[in-house]
Amino acid sequence: MSRAHLYPLRIAVCWFFSWEEYGARFARRMLMNYSEIKYFDIANGAGIRTTLFVSGCRHHCKGCFNPDTWAFEAGRPYSREVESQILSNLEPAYVDGLTLLGGEPFEPESQDVLIALLERVRAERPGKNVWAYSGFTWEQLTQGPSRAHTNHVMQMLSMVDVLVDGPFVLEQKDITLRFRGSSNQRIIDVRRSLEAGATTLWEDDPLFTTHTW
Ligand code: SF4
Repeated sequence: MSRAHLYPLRIAVCWFFSWEEYGARFARRMLMNYSEIKYFDIANGAGIRTTLFVSGCRHHCKGCFNPDTWAFEAGRPYSREVESQILSNLEPAYVDGLTLLGGEPFEPESQDVLIALLERVRAERPGKNVWAYSGFTWEQLTQGPSRAHTNHVMQMLSMVDVLVDGPFVLEQKDITLRFRGSSNQRIIDVRRSLEAGATTLWEDDPLFTTHTW
């Protein structure tokens, strides 16, 4: 058989696998549980926020503030209606943005669902900022190796403004820190870090800057 005869077969195989991947990602897009949504939250990011606590976290940090969210099946099913409710609660001008918390928003199982949510936030609420908390470090997310370093993690990060990274370390717990629980965690300006190709910390209001890294 000549090479030319193989082209239709190649195209069919590529078409099948691309649609299989697309179908699998589409199916996963609504397969996530969440434990809670906090409206008018002022503890998890700057300003007034809507905070989504997703279910599922494999880090199991000693002293975790929210172990009820470790199980992926904990809480309630996430749905298009829940998503619309989040979007609607982001609408008022006094709400600064959305925070993704957990659980672990960057567990591979949750990424497709949250990418779909962030796409809607960017399209329908363009003035709002997005914070995300992760037990993975910036390097583990962006360079790997880690289970969170998937084919689409950069797509997810590209729609996040600020990342609080790293696991909670009980021995480094510091209750005076703003927006983080232990001193190993960093508050990273995602856009500036991606542009600079180097980790760039988010700049807090000097009024609140009582600690340095
Ligand atoms: S990453 Fe967060 S939710 Fe997961 S165990 Fe650590 S502190 Fe708890």
